[in-house]
Amino acid sequence: MPDKPHAPAVEGLFTMDADEPHLLGTQCRGCGTYFFPAETTFCRNPSCEQADLQAVKLSRRGTVWSYTSANYKPPPPFVSKEPFEPFAIAAVTLEAEGITILGQVADGIGVDALKTGMPMELVLRELYEDEDHTYLTWSWKPVDEGTA
Ligand SMILES: [Zn+2]
Repeated sequence: MPDKPHAPAVEGLFTMDADEPHLLGTQCRGCGTYFFPAETTFCRNPSCEQADLQAVKLSRRGTVWSYTSANYKPPPPFVSKEPFEPFAIAAVTLEAEGITILGQVADGIGVDALKTGMPMELVLRELYEDEDHTYLTWSWKPVDEGTA
């Protein structure tokens, strides 16, 4: 059976480029601060009075700032496969943007495989599917040192 067409689980948070997905954020033209999810109404930097935010693609790579294991099924609207399997969550700092982004870690990679400061890259993973589509979200995957 052919794969179902892919669709984003949440519209507008990331690009659907299978090889090089990017998170979509915004940057303040006044002070340069980045926001994810995209802030579109005003700059949240308290010392900045700009309301001029431009859409930007964020860096695909960052380093692990912190991580944890989710051992219990989160409440709705979180969607998980049955039976529920524990997974790792990483907070990854994008150096260029200076922001930290939480994300589930790629399937099959547990907290034992993670350490603070390790390089990670953005990938897309299947979150769930319905009759028409497979829905994707982003996750963090350790950078393969062989190709880094
Ligand atoms: Zn600003």
